[in-house]
Amino acid sequence: MNHILVLHTGGTIAMKEDLQTGKVHPENDNPLLSAVLTLPENTKLTVEEFFNLPSPHITPRHMLELKKRIQQAALQNFTGVVITHGTDTLEETAFFLDTTIGDLLPIVITGAMRSSNEVGSDGLYNYESAIRVAACPQSKGKGVLVVMNDEIHSARYVTKTHTTNVATFRTPTLGPIGLITKSQIQFMQMLIEIKRMDVTHVDGAIPIIKAYAGMQTDLLDILAQGNLDGLVIEALGAGNLPPKTRIPLQKMLARNIPIVLVSRCFNGSAEAVYDYPGGGKELQQMGIIFCPTLNSQKARLKLLIASNCHLTKQELIDFMQQ
Ligand code: ASP
Repeated sequence: MNHILVLHTGGTIAMKEDLQTGKVHPENDNPLLSAVLTLPENTKLTVEEFFNLPSPHITPRHMLELKKRIQQAALQNFTGVVITHGTDTLEETAFFLDTTIGDLLPIVITGAMRSSNEVGSDGLYNYESAIRVAACPQSKGKGVLVVMNDEIHSARYVTKTHTTNVATFRTPTLGPIGLITKSQIQFMQMLIEIKRMDVTHVDGAIPIIKAYAGMQTDLLDILAQGNLDGLVIEALGAGNLPPKTRIPLQKMLARNIPIVLVSRCFNGSAEAVYDYPGGGKELQQMGIIFCPTLNSQKARLKLLIASNCHLTKQELIDFMQQ
């Protein structure tokens, strides 16, 4: 018997459109609660309205609350968890849970691009698909899964790629790890093992800065004087920066503030290749940690987790680079 815990957290999937003004707004009564669902065989749900928040209001503290509830659910013998969530920060909550407790039990996150009363609303369909995936025995040991639009993505690599299209969630370079068909859940890729770090706190200031052609140092100069717990920089190409930026970055490193570098490219892996002022080789030598395959919002969460686990310098490098 599958006993799945559903945690609703809000987002478009729980919203309605005002048909007169076109404004999409949160509802007091989640439309998913009154929906008639087709459940997989031998499956029962326990449903909790955990939050009712647009996902731009979600913070790492909310993610920590979700994590604690899921850990409790595992002790209560639930066989899987489905989370409904706004799509704007869905990948961050999914990644946070994956990096902390992703192998505990099947955890499936879904959302919608069209609210509950819009023509072509995808919420109920995605919700049923997520329940099917959470109830599927093959979903065990695959980390946190993001289910949208008939596809299953690993929380590790998935990202929101389109502002409005229902096919917004994509996994650059690798593609989805599975598909949902009328009658089956098909997994097609295996994930490599990663080290997970459970956390009890998510405190700290870790901003993200994006590099661009002609970047000046004004913002970095301010940050170099502030109380930071880390910095994530979205660098150019394989991992290079405009040369002037090295001065404030050097100051931060001298103060033992960890700096993690990701690429601003949508595809591929960050790697120290180039040997010129501001090139990746020099940045790595300075002590900047390359985080090869994550986007900046995920690298930030990973650094926040690492920072709250008080890792040594080498442990931090190994954790960020895996
Ligand atoms: N702005 C909405 C949110 O993230 C978008 C969505 O749910 O799709 O809450």
